[in-house]
Amino acid sequence: MANSELHRHWLLRAYTEATNSPDPSSQNGSGVYVLGHYTPSPFDIPHEGDEEGRVWTFAGAGYNKPVGDYDKQKYLEDRDYRLSVTIHAETAGIFSAARNGFCTNNAVLVCPWSACIECAKAIGESGIKTMIRHKQALDTAAAIRAERGYPSWNPREAGDPVLRAYGVEIIEFDGTVGGPLVRNSGREFHP
Ligand SMILES: [Zn+2]
Repeated sequence: MANSELHRHWLLRAYTEATNSPDPSSQNGSGVYVLGHYTPSPFDIPHEGDEEGRVWTFAGAGYNKPVGDYDKQKYLEDRDYRLSVTIHAETAGIFSAARNGFCTNNAVLVCPWSACIECAKAIGESGIKTMIRHKQALDTAAAIRAERGYPSWNPREAGDPVLRAYGVEIIEFDGTVGGPLVRNSGREFHP
C-alpha cells in the first residue's frame, strides 16, 4: 500500500504527542480518528479529509506515561518498576477518545510503535479496525536491540497476532515522517 499523506500527518501528530512522555527509554504517542464530521471536536484541528474523500475527526490522543502515586527516581532507574506504573500510548489514546465522548468502534489508531499484547487486547476490544504505525521506528528499535546482543527481537511479534485475531488491519508507513526528535530505545530518533 502506498504511503498516505494523511497518515504521515497523523504520525507527525502522534510523534508530537510522544514528546510529552517522560520515559527515559522510548517515547511513543497516539491519536484516535473516527469517521465522519463531528461537531465540535474537542481539538483545534478537528476534521481532515483523506484521498478517498472521507472526513475524519480527531477524537483522542495519548502518550506513554507513569500513572498514580509513583516513585520518580525508581521510575527512571528500574525498568520493571517503570513498566508496572506505565500506561502505554495506545491505551491512553483509546481512553482519551472515550473521555471526549467518541465511539471507538471502527476507529483508526495511529501510533508509531507496534502494540504490546495488553494494548492489542484493548485495541481489539475497543472495536478499532485499523492501526497505522511507522516502519522506521520499529526497524530502529530492532536494530538497537540487535546491537546490544538481544536474541532476535522482533517488534512485529508482540501484539500483532492478537490484532490479527481481532481483524485489525495494520498499516506501516514507510519513510520519513519529519517532526520532533523522540527517544527510541534510549537514543535520539528523527522520525
Ligand atoms: Zn502496550
